[in-house]
Amino acid sequence: MNSFQIHNPTKLIFGKGCLSSIPSELSAYGTRVLLLYGGGSIIRNGLYYQVIDQLKELNASIVEFGGVEPNPRLTTVYRGIQLIKEYKLDIILAVGGGSVIDCAKAIAAGSLYEGDVWDIVIGKVTPVTALPIGTVLTLAATGSEMNGNSVITNWEKNCKRYFSSIHVYPKFSILDPEWTFSVPRDQTVYGIVDIMSHVFEQYFHAAESAPLQERIGEAILRTVMETAPMLVNDLNNYDYRATMLLNGTHALNGLLAMGERTDWATHEIEQAVSAIYDIPHGGGLAILFPNWMEHVATTKPEKIAQLGVRVFNLAKEGKSDTQLAGETIARLRTFWTSIGAPASLSDYDIDDKEIDLMVESAMAAPTIGSYVPLMADDVRAILRKSL
Ligand code: NAP
Ligand code: FE
Repeated sequence: MNSFQIHNPTKLIFGKGCLSSIPSELSAYGTRVLLLYGGGSIIRNGLYYQVIDQLKELNASIVEFGGVEPNPRLTTVYRGIQLIKEYKLDIILAVGGGSVIDCAKAIAAGSLYEGDVWDIVIGKVTPVTALPIGTVLTLAATGSEMNGNSVITNWEKNCKRYFSSIHVYPKFSILDPEWTFSVPRDQTVYGIVDIMSHVFEQYFHAAESAPLQERIGEAILRTVMETAPMLVNDLNNYDYRATMLLNGTHALNGLLAMGERTDWATHEIEQAVSAIYDIPHGGGLAILFPNWMEHVATTKPEKIAQLGVRVFNLAKEGKSDTQLAGETIARLRTFWTSIGAPASLSDYDIDDKEIDLMVESAMAAPTIGSYVPLMADDVRAILRKSL
């Protein structure tokens, strides 16, 4: 195991009615608030009005900015930065899913940086400070509520990139499972796939040994797979929603990556696809991950075989790692199909027309991934399998 430090400064506030913590949590950072939200789901389910009531208790000055799109765009980040500067705001309250929270993080870092925030997103500049952020999470998926990552799309350049910084961890995140009841079935499934994919990206690592981290990842996967089939048929079930929220947070809050060089190649490839076709992140991952596994299993099947035995309950006796890996991938495909996830890029009408552009966009570096480093030809092969 490699040496590491872990520091997660986000305060998690979880449970029924926990919106009432907004005034006391916000007051530590100021009363001039940018209220950031998405395309209107929080207005339709009533959350918006309850957040406004909480902000009124604080006597907050509110500047509203709705309309953050799924796969948030750089142009939206620019508009947010403008509002922060124009109204001299103290804090951002992001109410929504990963897209709204990621957008808040880029606005937070960009509004205290003199240059172009895109420099931060592509890693040319490391942020040294950021405006504080609080979040009210409405969708179990990304873990953005308790990490320092932000994924932003430069649509004009067909380029989707992420940055990570300790300065953009939310100061607090409010998770009331009831506000996730209205997430539609398809979006719930995308979230489930994203959560599982985050575990996979870290389970497939380059460290010699990380037994505890792997066991924690397996526990998350088993809990997700137990809960998901019940949840997709009972969307208003508090306990299932609560379990999924907590899984999402812990799948990507630093716990699984301790002392590891984690993989993330599949996320890089998915970002390349959605930068061109604007598909849901979890939908893209459901298509790509089994094909990534199949590709790397030809050279390194061991960890996929281990996943099959420990998470999919495969019987090990007499089977090679290659056989077990094949069975694991088949089980994963069956599971994702059973809850309604897409299986091929053609489900989104994507053909091979832009494959060169996708390969180029995925290859931010000469190789991506660490479990098995991939070259451009590997990425092309995975995309071809996924068509
Ligand atoms: P999202 O893009 O935030 O939201 C997807 C859709 O779900 C939106 O249409 C949204 O509608 C709707 N929605 C959200 N909450 C809802 C609710 N309670 N009821 C009804 N509808 C609701 O989805 P996400 O999967 O959380 O975020 C995806 C983004 O995060 C991608 O850009 C991905 O690349 C990125 N990502 C980030 C990280 C990270 O660590 N930061 C990790 C993985 C992926 P409204 O817009 O109307 O609210
Ligand atoms: Fe993800």
